[in-house]
Amino acid sequence: MDQTPRPLLIGGRPVDARTADGIVVENPATGEAIGVVADAGTDDVAHAVTAARDAFEHWRWTPANERADLLHEAAARTIARADDLVDGLLREQGKARPEQEEEVEWSANTLRYYAELGRNSRGRVVPSGEPRTQLNLVLHEPFGVVGAIIPWNFPLLLLTWKLAPALAAGNTVVIKPSELTPLVTLDWIATCFDHLPAGVVNVVTGTGPGAGEALVAHPDVRVIAMTGSVPTGQRIATVAAPMMKHLHLELGGKDAFVIAPDATVVESVEAVAYAALFNAGQVCTSAERVYAPAGMHDELVEALVDRVGRIRVGDPTGDGIDMGPMAAERFRAKVADHVRDAVDRGARVVAGGGVPDGLERGYFYAPTVLSGVDHDMVIMNEETFGPTIPVMAYDRIDDAIAWVNNSSMGLGATLRSNDPALIKRFFEEVKVGTVWINDPLTDNYAGPFGGMKMTGGARELGEEGLRSFLETKHVHWDMSPDVKDYWYPY
Ligand code: NAD
Repeated sequence: MDQTPRPLLIGGRPVDARTADGIVVENPATGEAIGVVADAGTDDVAHAVTAARDAFEHWRWTPANERADLLHEAAARTIARADDLVDGLLREQGKARPEQEEEVEWSANTLRYYAELGRNSRGRVVPSGEPRTQLNLVLHEPFGVVGAIIPWNFPLLLLTWKLAPALAAGNTVVIKPSELTPLVTLDWIATCFDHLPAGVVNVVTGTGPGAGEALVAHPDVRVIAMTGSVPTGQRIATVAAPMMKHLHLELGGKDAFVIAPDATVVESVEAVAYAALFNAGQVCTSAERVYAPAGMHDELVEALVDRVGRIRVGDPTGDGIDMGPMAAERFRAKVADHVRDAVDRGARVVAGGGVPDGLERGYFYAPTVLSGVDHDMVIMNEETFGPTIPVMAYDRIDDAIAWVNNSSMGLGATLRSNDPALIKRFFEEVKVGTVWINDPLTDNYAGPFGGMKMTGGARELGEEGLRSFLETKHVHWDMSPDVKDYWYPY
């Protein structure tokens, strides 16, 4: 493998970082090195921000219809290169193939969605105090340079949820991909966005405390749009606060999955397995705690054990794989810690609970079902971010709803039920940004996605996702030169 770090993408061309230091990128299914990227520093970030700031002066005045055409072209190129992008993601990120294919297709469709939404509006006209001579305009205008800081679990999709609306709104962008998954991002931007004017999209690879924090600290970056963990979000907020930056933070989750008494076991088990194990449980909206009626608990757990026993775990480049590895050893170790703590406090591991046989290379952890859990256990309180399914019985649905809300985070929650009165009560009482009734994890381009409480209040997708990258200006225009009777003297 070539040890030379890949160049950064600045001002529309590859640029070597000023440091020779590199970050080795691994395939999480094998632990093998698959590439080296630059560990960019403050000077490199400043170079990229200058390129983005210069490009903004032109891009902000590019007609929205032209920007739309350029975003549609990026979407078309993404689809044309889908096979290569999926292959890259399979080696670098580790989700199962259908999940990677969905990520690429979704990314292209998100570009198309915002290409169209960006054509629609520049703001609104509101009634004036003197309608014959005055005009009051509410203008939405781009901020300038957006810093996009991305996690490793959906390297292209979570980038696109920021990149597409930011560009459609007329901002320019400097991307800092996760140090675990920078290769496909560099490839994608280099090949599918190089028809955009130079400097509109730039990529700087590096660590969070290094390149990431330099981007947050740069005075010319007006918006930081970041998806990641709560501690990282808190650190970014601290660094950004003195400069009053606009923060768009999508942070962690501890989503609950409630099975109502009227739900059926067979279908509920399928939904729980999907919601908890998609991307090996490394989804911010993964079902991380399951609440089942006491009378259904044992049958449900038994069926879950059977279901997860049929999940095909392995290297996702192979055929017929449902679930790949975890992203890195430290994430697997955290899952093991949560399981150990639960067992120490009296829980039972009824399926999984360690490295699957024959998958000792890479960072695999078996789909794991726990029963006998309670809220004193770490696994029911802190984000586990792995393939675990802790199931807890409830006697009264009121308790289950209270438990959903008993979390510092508020990203999503799922209910399995067809009882309209319960469904309405559930979606009105739970304090989360997305409620799924019967169909967990499903997103909608037009439906805003984001969290409440410690998850951060940002919204991506939908009209809200575009508005996040526009700031508001009110223009009060009086066309009459007359002296007003409300001026001095009183
Ligand atoms: P992370 O917080 O470790 O890193 C996210 C990004 O922030 C990376 O690019 C990292 O390099 C960067 N970063 C780290 N420290 C930084 C600093 N001091 N300054 C600037 N940037 C810094 O998160 P992760 O491990 O990559 O992703 C997993 C986390 O992301 C989980 O907590 C998960 O819940 C969350 N997540 C949230 C959503 C959502 O939409 N709410 C979606 C996916 C993932």
